Amino acid sequence: MEEFDVLVIGGGPGGYVCAIRAAQLGNKTACIESRGTLGGTCLNVGCIPSKSLLHASEMYSKAKNEFKDIGINTGDLSLDLTKMMGHKDKSVDGLTKGIEFLFKKNKVTYVKGHGSFKDKNTILVKDSSGSTQEIKAKNIVIATGSSVVSLPNINIDEETIVSSTGALALKKVPKKLIVIGGGYIGLEMGSVWLRLGSEVEVIEYMDHITPGMDKEISDTFLKILKKQGMKFHLSTKVLDVKKTPNGTKVTAESNGQTIEIVSDIVLMSVGRKPNTDGLNLETAGVNRDSKGRISTDKKFKTNIENIYAIGDVIEGPMLAHKAEDEGMAVAEIISGKYGHVNYDTIPGVVYTSPEVAVVGKTEEELKKIGTEYNVGKFPFVANSRAKINNDSDGFIKILVDKNTDKILGVHMIGPDVGTMIAEVVLAMEFGGSAEDIARTCHAHPTLSEAVREAALAVDKRAIHF
Ligand code: FAD
Repeated sequence: MEEFDVLVIGGGPGGYVCAIRAAQLGNKTACIESRGTLGGTCLNVGCIPSKSLLHASEMYSKAKNEFKDIGINTGDLSLDLTKMMGHKDKSVDGLTKGIEFLFKKNKVTYVKGHGSFKDKNTILVKDSSGSTQEIKAKNIVIATGSSVVSLPNINIDEETIVSSTGALALKKVPKKLIVIGGGYIGLEMGSVWLRLGSEVEVIEYMDHITPGMDKEISDTFLKILKKQGMKFHLSTKVLDVKKTPNGTKVTAESNGQTIEIVSDIVLMSVGRKPNTDGLNLETAGVNRDSKGRISTDKKFKTNIENIYAIGDVIEGPMLAHKAEDEGMAVAEIISGKYGHVNYDTIPGVVYTSPEVAVVGKTEEELKKIGTEYNVGKFPFVANSRAKINNDSDGFIKILVDKNTDKILGVHMIGPDVGTMIAEVVLAMEFGGSAEDIARTCHAHPTLSEAVREAALAVDKRAIHF
């Protein structure tokens, strides 16, 4: 039986990054993946295919609705959905194969199959043909990720009641799409189909979208999406989803009244659950928390000395870059180094148009913990590059400690803010202040000048607003 220093279960962004880093550090490393392709949820049915469709649908929408405003006449424009989906699939295929290449390059052994614990150092791997093998390892990292959840009594069939996975592979543009859940994934997928021609209605249980986001950003985001034609039912509780001869009927309750909406497709995007079933965790004695996630300490160690867990299967935001950072950190910790993750500086991005990008504390959180803060705000309408691009919806808000000027949170809605957030994340990693950003030269004319102007606005000295 082959024995490894590090054995990773799950080849998603947490697991594959961990395996590569562990191998780089000289560990004999293997990674087990049951899906048949590497890259996990993110590459196969998450970040990558959704961003491919978001990009393509945005191009389509711009060509259809906005090109004429800047002097580009396209004539009749038509959508080739099969080709758009084909492009997405090709991108996914290329990227998942790229990870196989990286495994070979770094000498990570890729084991195809489903892994479960035989004991705390032995994993039983069953492949798709049913044959099994046992693999031993000194250290085991659980990176099995998460999967879609539904509401009670609502079965996702991936045909008319779909999860994000089904919504990424629809064969035709639905006439009407109902999105249940107004979080990141629901709004991204809703945007894709809205741009491609669907009527989109979002049903959200809370009285606002993107729960947990800074309220001012969330409110602006809602207004902009409404302006784009997305409809919203807030404070509305879905009771039932049923197939009828006329379509899929959603019954919901709002302010004591029952509403019924019929559509051709219903997207369930109400959250995800950690993948721990079938791992035989009990055999190894690994504990889970009350939400079914694997419990770990700050060094990603479970209650069992040689077993670690990272990514969506543990506490924290379910984000690919969070999983990747944990993957690198745990590989370093196992190798006797000092890997760590700073959870105060993990950005969150919604890749709609405009994008939304956030990091650190919201105003609501600062008020709750009683931290005194100053605010600097700058609207994209006052940024020259956004103006010439006809893309000036949104603003940047920087929250700093009132006494020290240290950046505590940054919340952006606007063009390309998903890329621009990196600047403030770096500033926060260095314990930076608004003054640091305000004194940093930003190229002109760029969207990133709006970050500097927001930093200047903390001290009421923005130049262009
Ligand atoms: P996963 O990516 O879920 O990978 C776990 C892997 O483990 C899976 O491939 C699974 O097959 C495998 N596995 C499970 N059990 C076993 C077993 N017993 N044996 C062997 N293999 C096993 N995040 C972002 O940061 N940005 C985005 O833009 C973004 N967009 C998203 C869009 C959608 C539609 C969805 C669904 C998610 C999106 N996410 C995004 C979230 C992101 O995909 C996840 O946070 C990320 O993939 C988690 O990484 P992970 O490695 O923990 O788990």
